[in-house]
Amino acid sequence: MAVGETLVFEPIPDEALIGGHWKQASGPCGQVLNPATGAVLQTITQTTDADADTAVRAAVAAVADPAWRDLLPHRRAHYLYRIADAIEGATKSLALLQSFNTGKTLAETSALVASAAGTFRYFGAALETFDQDLTTPRGDYLTMSTYEPIGVIGAITPWNSPIASDAQKIAPALAAGNAVVLKPAEWTPLVSLALARLIDETGLPQGLLSVLPGKGSVVGDALVRHPWVGKVTFTGGTRTGRTLAHVAAEKLMPISLELGGKSPTIVLDDADLDQAVNGVVYGIFSSSGQSCVAGSRLFVDASIYDEFLDRLVAKTRELRVGPGQRPDVQVGPLVHPSHRDAVGRYVDLAREEGGRIRCGGAVPEDPTLDPAGAWYLPTIVDGLPNSARVCQEEIFGPVLVALPFRGLDDLIAQANDSVYGLAAGIWTRDYRRALWLSRRLQAGTVWINTYKQFSISTPFGGVKESGLGVEKGRAALAGYSRQKSLYLGLESEPNSWAD
Ligand code: NAD
Repeated sequence: MAVGETLVFEPIPDEALIGGHWKQASGPCGQVLNPATGAVLQTITQTTDADADTAVRAAVAAVADPAWRDLLPHRRAHYLYRIADAIEGATKSLALLQSFNTGKTLAETSALVASAAGTFRYFGAALETFDQDLTTPRGDYLTMSTYEPIGVIGAITPWNSPIASDAQKIAPALAAGNAVVLKPAEWTPLVSLALARLIDETGLPQGLLSVLPGKGSVVGDALVRHPWVGKVTFTGGTRTGRTLAHVAAEKLMPISLELGGKSPTIVLDDADLDQAVNGVVYGIFSSSGQSCVAGSRLFVDASIYDEFLDRLVAKTRELRVGPGQRPDVQVGPLVHPSHRDAVGRYVDLAREEGGRIRCGGAVPEDPTLDPAGAWYLPTIVDGLPNSARVCQEEIFGPVLVALPFRGLDDLIAQANDSVYGLAAGIWTRDYRRALWLSRRLQAGTVWINTYKQFSISTPFGGVKESGLGVEKGRAALAGYSRQKSLYLGLESEPNSWAD
């Protein structure tokens, strides 16, 4: 954005993409807020179970159409490359739209748009190099294992990073030859609809992508239960994920779940403290803490605890809070006033349980901020045991709980004492110790001397109540496919058993 440029919100058409057609849905309208002001940005049509049915039926027809079904992989890849180009060409408007709707800073939303474009390009390339397997025969035949599309994929995404999480599902699912019906989160449907319009304009055959804004309990539920949906890929909270897993069990349908976290960040006594302070601050307070992998539990070696906490608190107090469209801002508003209130209640609980609020713990008193915005100051709490609710439950906001540890056994016991297992961070100069520790931490991703770095080529997933299955990486193509084994007999004589 040019310096001094006034950034204004441009509404998008109030239509959903349902079975190849842009139209108003059958449900009532929903309001989409600007979390920095609490004002309504625009209304968006809400889809219902009837729309889910229309979308799924169109998707079934689209995957069976020879124009898509028989398309050779390298030609299918071209659709993904065109989508990547279209996203890149619209970076500015997509980033701005997502920033206005989620409150995230433009730097963050621009990075998410770039990541979405990269995801489509990566899965196009992965598809072009996705080999079928020739397996080792145990007789006079040739055997191979081939991959076929599942059919219709139901994709359900949360509000925190919509364009990136949408792309992580749509790109591999289309690459594998499926159709996708996407249900974005109630609070943040705008960028998903804008993405759908771009994809539609690239000429993707009708019906292969539907985007159904609306309530999870209505259209999301209808999508998951629909008998013709062959797989669900879900990113969101653990409670919702568990509900969907029950439905999947009833249908005997595969489901992948990317769920919540309460990730430990660990500072060992030999860490580069300058790096560790900045890394911990970034790991929890970027995206206002609304990140599944946020390093929300900090464990610091007791010998350096006081010094480290003092430095961390000083750095945190310097963070610039404000609207995500202001170039100097580091911490935007939370996504919605009601979510801000939920985060505030956790900090109140920390106080009641005897925790010390080392910084933050309140709405900022800044006259330049709209009082109706969903503001909350970056907050550090300590003085609580790891068993406290604020140390165990996902707050999903700018709240860090800090705890000291004494020795690696104590550290491992505390760090793994969580129902979650999404990510972990280790700050140390000793890579041998870091690798030893990484093997003992129950987490899907461990960052060493860095945090919240993502590569589309590196698989991502959680353990324990943080999820089931992995996204990203070449293996994701297999995750959206069914394997079929073929035997080609090579014997020239009739089978002697029948004689
Ligand atoms: P959520 O579970 O409330 O909602 C997620 C999505 O599920 C939304 O689209 C919602 O409408 C839909 N939904 C809700 N009930 C449903 C139902 N009964 N049937 C079908 N769909 C339903 O989560 P949220 O509040 O939107 O997002 C925050 C959560 O997402 C946090 O727990 C966060 O950790 C998690 N998350 C995880 C990852 C990951 O990769 N592991 C990434 C981002 C966010």
